[in-house]
Amino acid sequence: APEPLAPTLDSARRVLKQYYGYDSFRPMQADIIESILGGRDTVVLMPTGGGKSVCFQVPAIVQEGVCVVVSPLIALMKDQVEALKANGVSAAYINSSVGQGEQTSIASDCLNGYLKLLYVSPEKLLSEGFLQFLRRLRISMFAIDEAHCISSWGHDFRPEYTQLKLLREQFPQIPIIALTATADRLTQRDIQQQLRLNEPRVFLSSFDRPNLNLIVRPGQDRVGSIVEFVERHPDEAGIVYCLSRKQCETMAEKLKAKGIRAGHYHAGMTPNQRGAVQEAFLKDDLQAIVATIAFGMGIDKSNVRWVIHYNLPKNIEGYYQEIGRAGRDGAPATAMLFYNFGDVMSLRDMLTKDNPSLTQLNLTKLERMQQFAEAAGCRRKILLNYFGEVLPQDCGNCDICRNPPTTFDGSLLAQKALSAVVRMRERASIGLLIDVLRGMRNQAVLTGGYDQIKTYGAGADLPYLDWYSYIHQMLNDGLLYIAYEEGYALKLTDLGREVLQGQRTLALKKFQPAEKAEKPTRA
Ligand code: ADP
Ligand code: ZN
Repeated sequence: APEPLAPTLDSARRVLKQYYGYDSFRPMQADIIESILGGRDTVVLMPTGGGKSVCFQVPAIVQEGVCVVVSPLIALMKDQVEALKANGVSAAYINSSVGQGEQTSIASDCLNGYLKLLYVSPEKLLSEGFLQFLRRLRISMFAIDEAHCISSWGHDFRPEYTQLKLLREQFPQIPIIALTATADRLTQRDIQQQLRLNEPRVFLSSFDRPNLNLIVRPGQDRVGSIVEFVERHPDEAGIVYCLSRKQCETMAEKLKAKGIRAGHYHAGMTPNQRGAVQEAFLKDDLQAIVATIAFGMGIDKSNVRWVIHYNLPKNIEGYYQEIGRAGRDGAPATAMLFYNFGDVMSLRDMLTKDNPSLTQLNLTKLERMQQFAEAAGCRRKILLNYFGEVLPQDCGNCDICRNPPTTFDGSLLAQKALSAVVRMRERASIGLLIDVLRGMRNQAVLTGGYDQIKTYGAGADLPYLDWYSYIHQMLNDGLLYIAYEEGYALKLTDLGREVLQGQRTLALKKFQPAEKAEKPTRA
């Protein structure tokens, strides 16, 4: 019998209409699908919400055989398969949660050519029995979803993924499609090398989300600022990301106490509890979700108007993915990050204990994140640059662009602080130092006898937040450092000593109050 004609973009378009109800492909989708239909290895780098699923699902439907999709998250697998089935596409998933009887029936659907898409976890795929089973099938292609998981440089490294190189060895003729929403340059390279892709076509759609207003605020009185922000945006749904479960619960309580419809979400809750909160948020019954980063994977809610980071994220990939959940509809949305030097310290501790072989890498990424938070230039430029994109001009939609920091000679101001640090015998934490500079009479000040030192009250003319900002700038500029092991005591560096002794000057960025920096611009 003659071979059936190879499927074309036209047949793909018909499938798009028939199964998804869409009239046309998005520009990048059409190019990607042509590449896949041409049998090429293909890499798809597209932000969340860009429409990656269509890119491999449509070719899977129009081609002969079954498309084997590798996906790391059981929950996502289930959702995708259910969505496909609801649209009339024959799809199934196999992972540890699927019983033997059902696996047998799925296997026979594969063998008789009925199934178009088979989702599997990497563990399942790589088990010997399963690879043998695959050899009996007609496979149209392998689709590797969340392909960044293959890279130890990526933010979500899964060791199982590195074994996927077996696919090319064992199925040399079958095209591989790798898809991801987050891949910096090194991760992109890792994906291609590790999957042994053969002259792949790489499609990079812009990661820019110009509708997101990027804001970084000092991490002082975060709870109060967040409550105030949510109160000022009563009709807008949003997510607050916190590092710890405890913070999630406390923050959600504070919001609720103000009459805001808020809920919390973290991995310590039962699947039922989490499902209920997620559902309520999707249905707009909850305005705000306070969550750990466990929340958001696979959430498809287009009208999230703001994402707030209570803590500094561990790296830029994670941050980008999380803020990307705001403004998917393209309308203006806010991404606000609270930056607190203390977070850098706790994250450093965490990362050092996490995974010893990755410590250095993770610390480097944390540094990049910190640099973003401390940046004095357009934040969007920094962000896009991290993902290998160049923005030709400043964005105009970040706090820095809107309100460029002015600098001033902060030498005198720094000398006051540095001198107080020395007079407090380098034992004071930031909060105590500020209290002493501002002449506060609280317990800690009095027990230390710090109201007796010469610099007590020398900075009473400046509000707490201003001092907080300037001391952090001094830390970032290397005049001071924090002795973590000594109750976070501030200590002088050589550079700090030079400034204190007037041998060196210091430029400081003028502290900007919150309201000013947040005012949205509508171009
Ligand atoms: P990703 O996997 O990249 O995050 P999805 O595949 O989930 O994105 O697609 C995001 C949304 O865009 C979905 O609601 C999807 O149905 C929709 N979509 C995808 N392709 C098209 C298209 N060609 N026309 C209209 N909507 C589309
Ligand atoms: Zn900018």
